[in-house]
Amino acid sequence: MINAAITLLRKKGLKPTQQRLAIYQALMTSRDHPHAQKIYRKVRKKHVTISLNTVYNTLEAFKRAGLIGSVKVLHDESARYDPTVDPHNHIVCMKCKKVTDLFEKKLLRIPTPSEIGGEFKIMGYRVEFFGYCRVCAGASP
Ligand SMILES: [Zn+2]
Ligand SMILES: [Zn+2]
Repeated sequence: MINAAITLLRKKGLKPTQQRLAIYQALMTSRDHPHAQKIYRKVRKKHVTISLNTVYNTLEAFKRAGLIGSVKVLHDESARYDPTVDPHNHIVCMKCKKVTDLFEKKLLRIPTPSEIGGEFKIMGYRVEFFGYCRVCAGASP
């Protein structure tokens, strides 16, 4: 996995430093669409001198290179990072803010509403489901 990551980073013109690799691995092994802070806490265990700013900038560089995606959910101001770059949508728990991937193909083929007409050049759209996960739905409010 490390070798694959090194090759991938090189291909995108990013020098595969130890810190960058650690950040990349930390995200790739996360299934919860973490904020930069969470990646930072994970990476800091081994790379004690790393700063949150470095983690954030590195994640943004990965994103620009198309290595990772990001998602903003439920009016959350800070980005959460997504190891999956294939087109997909999300369902968010309104209580614990858990974000789960949805790969339903139908959601990727929603026709452009006719009201839009020629007013916009459409670059994409987002479908966000929200509700309560099984744990939160069972818990008292
Ligand atoms: Zn929940
Ligand atoms: Zn996702």
